[in-house]
Amino acid sequence: MKHRRPHPPRPHALPPPRPPEGAPIDLHLHSLHSDGKLTPADLVGRAKEAGISALALTDHDSVRGIPEAREACRKEGILFVPGIELGVGVGTDEIHLLGYGIDAKGRTLQHTLDLLAGERLDRMEKMLAALGRLGVAVSLDDVRVEAGGGILGRLHLAATLVRLGHVGDLNEAFRRWIGAGRPAYVGRQLLNIREAIDLIREAGGVPVLAHPGVTRRDELIEYLVRLGVRGLEVYYPKHDFVDVSRYRKMCAKFDLMATGGSDFHGAGKDEPPIGSGSTPPDEFSKLLYSMHL
Ligand code: AMP
Ligand code: FE
Ligand code: FE
Ligand code: ZN
Repeated sequence: MKHRRPHPPRPHALPPPRPPEGAPIDLHLHSLHSDGKLTPADLVGRAKEAGISALALTDHDSVRGIPEAREACRKEGILFVPGIELGVGVGTDEIHLLGYGIDAKGRTLQHTLDLLAGERLDRMEKMLAALGRLGVAVSLDDVRVEAGGGILGRLHLAATLVRLGHVGDLNEAFRRWIGAGRPAYVGRQLLNIREAIDLIREAGGVPVLAHPGVTRRDELIEYLVRLGVRGLEVYYPKHDFVDVSRYRKMCAKFDLMATGGSDFHGAGKDEPPIGSGSTPPDEFSKLLYSMHL
């Protein structure tokens, strides 16, 4: 019989805590630090009401909400995963990459997010100037009020246009002025795939492709996996069961984790609730194992 050497003790040998069966695990939530409506604490309060056992805060290009969300989750007994959602340029398309278990204090991450915030500000000023030339007066302060101190995005501008009575609803704002190719649209500087994946990994995070059924760039998945993507957001309110089964198969093929989340923004009652698109507990366990917690 072959002699087996005992394994040395591993620092992370204990299994991560397992959330209760049946309680949703929502790994895609936005707060007012990006384009969500709620403070991180209020978001966690809503998650508690929804019976969530574990959640990730995944603000666009921002980690500012993480300390508050972590503390609120601790108080509520919800397992907290620090996350982010990055916009990534692929040709003229934009895909979204989630990062789980990131160290929000990482220097490179902070530095890059500061650059992105600065670029968003420049771009907002350009869009406001374009609107001004078209006779639509909106000030940067108007948009800042809407953004609640968080990063500046087109959704804030659209909501400002509604609030000031320039358009009837958000859709009209995009259709008339700020949707891609419309007269006041200005594109923003996006990270490329490699930069975004490396940024998440360098911050200790696990990169996962967000809502692949919305992005519809399945041909990229193999390439993304080679660059370090470890999962697909399989369970997502806008995915139908055909999407879910397709992406589950891809997870099996490429040995990826299948995560899920609601993409809740606190926007109103038409929105899918917190907990829709829940991550299966087994998949969540795998994710916890792959994070450097
Ligand atoms: P930004 O990252 O600033 O370019 O803003 C993109 C965000 O604007 C998306 O995440 C959506 O929330 C929103 N958005 C983009 N296009 C539309 C649209 N046609 N209708 C409603 N919201 C949109
Ligand atoms: Fe958003
Ligand atoms: Fe997204
Ligand atoms: Zn999102």
